[in-house]
Amino acid sequence: MKPQILLLYTGGTIGMIKDPLTASLQAFDFASLLDKIPELNLLDCSIDTVSFETPIDSSNINPSHWIEIASIIEKNYATHDGFVVLHGSDTMSYSASALSFMLENLSKPVIFTGSQLPIGDLRTDAKENLITAIQIAALQNNNKAVIKEVGLYFEYKLYRGNRTTKINAEYFQAFASLNFPALITSGVHLNVQHELLLKNYSQAPLIVHKTLDTNVALVKLFPGITATVLKSILDIPQLKAVVVETYGSGNATTDDWFLKTIEDAIAKGIYIINVTQCAGGSVQMNQYHTGKLLEGLGVISGNDMTTESALTKLMYMLALKISRKMFKTVFETDLRGEIS
Ligand code: ASP
Repeated sequence: MKPQILLLYTGGTIGMIKDPLTASLQAFDFASLLDKIPELNLLDCSIDTVSFETPIDSSNINPSHWIEIASIIEKNYATHDGFVVLHGSDTMSYSASALSFMLENLSKPVIFTGSQLPIGDLRTDAKENLITAIQIAALQNNNKAVIKEVGLYFEYKLYRGNRTTKINAEYFQAFASLNFPALITSGVHLNVQHELLLKNYSQAPLIVHKTLDTNVALVKLFPGITATVLKSILDIPQLKAVVVETYGSGNATTDDWFLKTIEDAIAKGIYIINVTQCAGGSVQMNQYHTGKLLEGLGVISGNDMTTESALTKLMYMLALKISRKMFKTVFETDLRGEIS
C-alpha cells in the first residue's frame, strides 16, 4: 500500500501568479498548481488535495484558519498517513507552532511548506520544497510514520515547526531554528536525525484542540519605551497574558516604573511571559540582577521558546482554563518539543 498523503493548500506565494494589471501577486486556483508540477505523479505515494475555499496570503492568517487546518486534518486523520500544508512563509512559523499545540498525541506527520517564488517562476524554490515535503510526509518505517510531529520544510531542511522563525524575506533560506537542530537535511539522501524526533510512544488517540484564546499581547522592549506605552497595553480590558521580548538572557530595565507596572499587572491576574528578543539562546532570569527582579515578581520564563511558540502556546493554554496555581508550571513545561 502506498502512503496516502493529503495536500492542503491555504495560499501563499507558492500558488500565486502576477496580476497582469497591477503586477502584484495574488493567489490562484489550486488545480492549476498541480498542473504546474507533473513530477508529483512520479512520487511513491498517493496524493489527495484540498484547498481553502479562498486561498489567502498568510499575512491574513488568524486563529480561525488554524482551526480550519486542524479540522481538515482531524477529518482526514484516519484515512491519510501524512499531511502537507502549503502556506505562505510570512506567518508559517506561527501556524506551525499553533498546530503543534492544537494537535495532541499526533502520530502522523504534518509538514508545512511554501516558497519564496511562485511555482510558475523559472527560478522557483517551490518545486523542491513541495516535492521533498511530500516525500518526508510519506516516510515510513514498518508501516509507521517516521515523523510524528508538526514540521516545517524549507530549503533542504525539515525543522520542528514550533522552533522556527522567518528570518529572511529575500533568500530561499527563509527560516531558521536557532535553538534546535534540523530534524532532516535533504541532500542526495534524506538524512534523518532519528534521535531528535518526537517519539509519541503512547497509543492515545489524536485530540484536536479547537478553542484558542486570543486575549494576549506582545511587547518588545527597547531603550526608551515609556510607562504610558507599557501601561496602556497592560490596561487593555480582557487581557489575560503578555509575551514580553526582553534583552539577552531575559533582562529588562530595573526602573521603578517598569517593575511596578509589571507587578501591578501580575497582581491583576495577567500572566507575563519572558522571552528573549535575541534570535537564539534562552531566558535565564537568575543570571543577571536585571532578570532576577522579574523572576521575583512572578514573571514566567519562556526559556528558549520562540515568540511565535510562546504566543500560540498562550492561546492554547488560556483556552484550556488551567488554574492560576498550575499555569506557570505548565507553561514552563515542554509540551511539544518547543522547549529544550
Ligand atoms: N506574502 C506571502 C505569504 O506569506 C509570502 C510567501 O508566501 O512566502 O502568503
